[in-house]
Amino acid sequence: MERLDRFMARANAAYYATRDPFADFTTAPEISQVFGEILGLWAAVAWQGLGCPAPVLLAEAGPGRGTLMADALRAIRAVAPDFGAALAVHLIETSPRLRALQAAALPDAAPVWHESLDTLPAGPLLLLANEFLDALPIRQFVRRGAGWAERFVAGGGIVERPAVATDGPDAPGLAEGEVAEICAPARDFVAGLAARFARVPGAALLVDYGPEAPGHASSLQAIRAGAPADPLAAPGAADLTAHVDFAALAGVARAAGAAVHGPLAQGVLLGRLGFGERTARLARGQPPDKAALLDSAARRLTAPYRMGRLFKALALCSPGSPPPPGFAA
Ligand code: SAH
Repeated sequence: MERLDRFMARANAAYYATRDPFADFTTAPEISQVFGEILGLWAAVAWQGLGCPAPVLLAEAGPGRGTLMADALRAIRAVAPDFGAALAVHLIETSPRLRALQAAALPDAAPVWHESLDTLPAGPLLLLANEFLDALPIRQFVRRGAGWAERFVAGGGIVERPAVATDGPDAPGLAEGEVAEICAPARDFVAGLAARFARVPGAALLVDYGPEAPGHASSLQAIRAGAPADPLAAPGAADLTAHVDFAALAGVARAAGAAVHGPLAQGVLLGRLGFGERTARLARGQPPDKAALLDSAARRLTAPYRMGRLFKALALCSPGSPPPPGFAA
């Protein structure tokens, strides 16, 4: 019997160490180069809002194939060369296999890799993350009577055990059998970033997926070869993710001293940051089939019924800095 978060951590470590995740699922930076370009320019404008500190760290958590960072740096060098000259690239990535892909994607960026946020050097920081938090392990608690049971994995299925009262979630109002999820590593990550921004200039854009309010049911899911799979069968063979609880993370960040903006629907943020215009400009010089691909990628990322609404962006910044691009009221 293994606690759910330990099962998820072990399964994902094995999965990211041995598989090419992108054979099983795709992500925004892999769908359109405009995604990374726009996020790079978001970082450049946020950097200006912090008073253009130099030197500055440009970090990414969970960089996958390195595509987002490569697209971001290309846009930064073209549009904001002073930011490009001031920045040093840092990547938070645990998978050796993906680190090798990132090195190959960023031949001129001299990235420095980290296991966690804790080893990033001191100093002003801009941080980007896309679909990083959803890969971090969750615990699940089920309302049973006046207390909670915790969910464990045994023999490919779920078993419940009564939870110690102090372990239970802060989730009043749940009905018998409803599930509350807690992602301690996501909370720790956000609290660490926010505490840093309270002391040293910085801003972060965290893009991920999760509903407006937690769904009170298990959100654990596995994707294998592009299709939903049983998350408990064959640990290490599929990517496991869970919904990100943006409201909880926003609360954690505020409590740790950061200014918090959003969450904002991905489609709304990308629209405000000029995703459509950039896509149209790119498409103009292309043959019709390429132009159509760029256009359908843009719709996939921004349309509410595709990835535009379930995906959201949360921004954290140093208190007193202006709202970051796209988040001004
Ligand atoms: N951001 C990329 C990849 C998303 S997949 C994209 O949008 O395409 C999740 C990424 O997070 C992978 O790079 C994975 O190896 C990394 N990751 C998962 N758990 C991690 C952890 N605990 N610490 C650091 N990186 C982690």
